[in-house]
Amino acid sequence: MLPASASEAKLATQLQLAVDRSELTLAYQPKLHLHSGKVAGVEALSRWENDKGEQIEPSTFIPIAERSGLIDALTDTIVRGALRQWVSWREQGIKANLAFNVSALSLRDVYLPDYLHGLCLHEDVPPQFVTVEVTEGATQHVVRLLDTLTRFRLKGFGLALDDFGTGYSSLLQLRQLPYTELKIDRCFVRDATASKESRLIIKAAIDLAHGFGLVATAEGVEDSATLNLLKELRCDYAQGFLIGRPMTGRAFAPWLLESAPQWRPDQADLAIWEAAARDAEANGSAWR
Ligand code: C2E
Ligand code: MG
Ligand code: MG
Repeated sequence: MLPASASEAKLATQLQLAVDRSELTLAYQPKLHLHSGKVAGVEALSRWENDKGEQIEPSTFIPIAERSGLIDALTDTIVRGALRQWVSWREQGIKANLAFNVSALSLRDVYLPDYLHGLCLHEDVPPQFVTVEVTEGATQHVVRLLDTLTRFRLKGFGLALDDFGTGYSSLLQLRQLPYTELKIDRCFVRDATASKESRLIIKAAIDLAHGFGLVATAEGVEDSATLNLLKELRCDYAQGFLIGRPMTGRAFAPWLLESAPQWRPDQADLAIWEAAARDAEANGSAWR
């Protein structure tokens, strides 16, 4: 077996090739709006199959991309792919919110919001339909993040604080950064029905989000008892295997239309979301 650093270097070389050849793919996981009971959006998640046909987990290759200077190129590929997918869905009558993950490392670049806004304009995707998820684990100094995140808001993007509750700086970030959404980490949601402590944390996180004027999303919902509990706790959105596993972009429309008709938004819901997107844009003006 190769020592860790040698195997990491090997993976980094393979990853570089995969990025150059646009071999990374995307899986999309649906997100349910709990008040209406309808699918409101998707989160784009990177997928990588190496040349031996093995799936490498994002939890393995994202940190390698961060350490080997590949993360910006990876983000670029992912965002372009996801925007093109959004356009294809729109042509099929689906206007879902699109979220993608951006490493906090990439947020050191204060021109990233302008760049991504340019990509949205190029693909004709309104930024009001796009949410940038920031993982708090890979923390940067809050002051550094403020500039970039504020620029995202000014451009009309939504901003989610991902994996809330797992890093040490969540509360500081919440207090000082212009997030629009708080995503409660799966580790609390997983045992919410069995653990009073997890329930307390989830409730506090939802109340905290609402107190700051943010929406709350629970990650990793795997059973209906948990989904019902989240509704009781007035959580706004839920994501998890119960609702849908990450799927290819091509599979999403048939899934929404055929496998999940109870969660399919109708025209009235679409009108509500368009209004919500406009509200998000108006709220963004508070940061001007
Ligand atoms: P995340 O952004 O918090 O994404 C949610 C992760 O939880 C995904 O794992 C998803 O497949 C998994 N998940 C969702 N629902 C359930 C459930 O009900 N049960 C269980 N057991 N798992 C569930 P995935 O795709 O392996 O991604 C892991 C992490 O890697 C992501 O966490 C995100 O932080 C990072 N990541 C993925 N794609 C990208 C990317 O394009 N760029 C960056 N910077 N990070 C990415
Ligand atoms: Mg995420
Ligand atoms: Mg997360």
